[in-house]
Amino acid sequence: MQEVSRLRFDCPHCGSYMKVRTSKTHLPEYRELYLHCTNEFKCGYRCKGRVTLSETLAPSYRPNPSVNIKMSPWVMRKMHQEILESEGQIRLILDARKEAKK
Ligand SMILES: [Zn+2]
Repeated sequence: MQEVSRLRFDCPHCGSYMKVRTSKTHLPEYRELYLHCTNEFKCGYRCKGRVTLSETLAPSYRPNPSVNIKMSPWVMRKMHQEILESEGQIRLILDARKEAKK
């Protein structure tokens, strides 16, 4: 996957680079974008878009209780697997203790 430090859009009409301005909303997981084509005089296209933080891929170490972004199915599977693994380890420890008591 390519790392993108700045959101980049090309103009859908002429293919030139589009400048992006974001506006803050009251929701931390949602931004409105205002884009305008840098080919200002020959094209001049402007549009509005939006960016939403839609799925959690790795939970935060400092979670904000007011943020509620759904977990991706991949994270859910991984967490479920970790629970199963820890249950398995507990079972092994308990079995080892039972063996030791015999
Ligand atoms: Zn354009």
